Amino acid sequence: MAKYIFVTGGVTSSLGKGIIAASLAKLLQARGFKTTIQKFDPYINVDPGTMNPYEHGECYVTEDGAETDLDLGHYERFLNIFTSQVNNVTTGSIYQTVINREREGAYLGKTVQVIPHITDEIKRRMQLLGETNNYDIIVTEIGGTVGDIESLPFIEAVRQLQWELPDEDCLVLHLTLIPYLKAAKELKTKPTQHSVKLLSENGVHPDILICRTEHPLGDEIKRKIALFCNVKLDSVIEAADASTIYEVPMAMLKEQLDVTVLKKLNITSYNEPELGKWKDFLEKLKRPRNKVTIGLIGKYIELQDAYKSILESFIHAGAMNDCKVQVVNVHSEFITEDNVGEKLRELDGLLVAPGFGFRGVEGKVIAVKYARENNLPFFGICLGMQMAAIEFARNVLGITDADSTEMRADTQNPVIDMMEEQKKITIKGGTMRLGSYPCHIKENTLAHRIYGKTDISERHRHRWEFNNAYLNRFENAGMIASGLNTASGLVEIMELPSHPFFIGVQYHPELKSTVENPHPIFVHFIKASKEFAEAKNSIKNPLLQSEMI
Ligand code: GLN
Repeated sequence: MAKYIFVTGGVTSSLGKGIIAASLAKLLQARGFKTTIQKFDPYINVDPGTMNPYEHGECYVTEDGAETDLDLGHYERFLNIFTSQVNNVTTGSIYQTVINREREGAYLGKTVQVIPHITDEIKRRMQLLGETNNYDIIVTEIGGTVGDIESLPFIEAVRQLQWELPDEDCLVLHLTLIPYLKAAKELKTKPTQHSVKLLSENGVHPDILICRTEHPLGDEIKRKIALFCNVKLDSVIEAADASTIYEVPMAMLKEQLDVTVLKKLNITSYNEPELGKWKDFLEKLKRPRNKVTIGLIGKYIELQDAYKSILESFIHAGAMNDCKVQVVNVHSEFITEDNVGEKLRELDGLLVAPGFGFRGVEGKVIAVKYARENNLPFFGICLGMQMAAIEFARNVLGITDADSTEMRADTQNPVIDMMEEQKKITIKGGTMRLGSYPCHIKENTLAHRIYGKTDISERHRHRWEFNNAYLNRFENAGMIASGLNTASGLVEIMELPSHPFFIGVQYHPELKSTVENPHPIFVHFIKASKEFAEAKNSIKNPLLQSEMI
């Protein structure tokens, strides 16, 4: 039977509950336990798929096509496992199930209430993975902050589970903040005391406190927290600010969080943590020998969470290349023919980001043109690939009004058109082409060199596609479709063989890059950018060039 660890948060949001949960799960996995993580979000949207990136950051897509919270991305990147539909539950999805059941008459005339019906459904979902997949340990992150009205039913469900399950099968971790008051030169424990009190009033007493702090806690403060929050001294864990999220598992290892957790779960036999690959990665991350500057062309650049998985994939790929990846955000709305050279001149590579809607797309087309004409390594993801196709149609094939019907519904030259099966869809939530689909790669192409095989599968989230009526003209002019979904003929990868590195993909490779398995396109893109930077520097420095000759 699986054991359950719940992670709640107090005092304030943005303390990094997802990273703490992922770090603990990583350590337990490294000690030999089959571990997974799930997230319960208190909002009423059925999933985050319908939310604007400004509201919610990136929408992360799982293999089975669930549109989920971006924390699931951290879980996959840390644990190197796939999550699924079941790993992200929202209040909306709980209510949807209960209300559908009520309409079926399944409650046999009873009044349907938050307790027990909503909480029963929450408990059922909390234990679903444990019942079906032979996990040893399931970490559950409860979204929101203790004290929020919305998260009360989740906390109540945790309370009931803690009562129902054997003591050693259920554990609650509470993440709080110990603020430092500069004027008083002191760390303050009161907000944590209040937060624990609030949680206790709801019937849940935390077993372990994880304390975010900008300064070391020291024994004195730890003792004070332990005494006033009624936890054992070794259950007060310091979580100091880290230079990278990937340091956090090592910091938690040092604080012996995993050992404390295992002790409380009454697990006495476990392995030394197997973290070799993780440590190698960290070593490379901390001591890069080169640097590349990559332009990220998008329209949500004010909010870094909107491109979370892309930014993390750069970190993984950078470490693989012994290279620091400096990402320069370029707002696509402000790129024009006149300023493109000035805006992109310092770059060693260009990534055109995914996106939806008309705003900012013309700037993306101009940026692609710059990369194509200047041999700058180019990587287009989803909308980025579609913009590369439009740019090629307009500027190489001379189809000056080429467009996507997403941007201009009445265009005479829909180089990008809505997928046939999408045309009859009216409901927005969960109806895009989502999740994993196979792609067949042509041999002797850049894509083939990158992947080293002909059959791959990648994750998707789109409604539009390349219009195959134009494919011959594209291929005759030098832009080839190097990857196709053979069942539907949908173009998955486009590339320009005459360019040193120019690739656009309809899918989202960033969703499958992990610390232990950096995504090959990102790895090759950074490598090509590194070569571009080296060539640029040797031209700038003729002495170096002559030495190299
Ligand atoms: N808006 C485009 C489509 O739906 C691209 C989507 C994306 O970039 N994820 O096809």
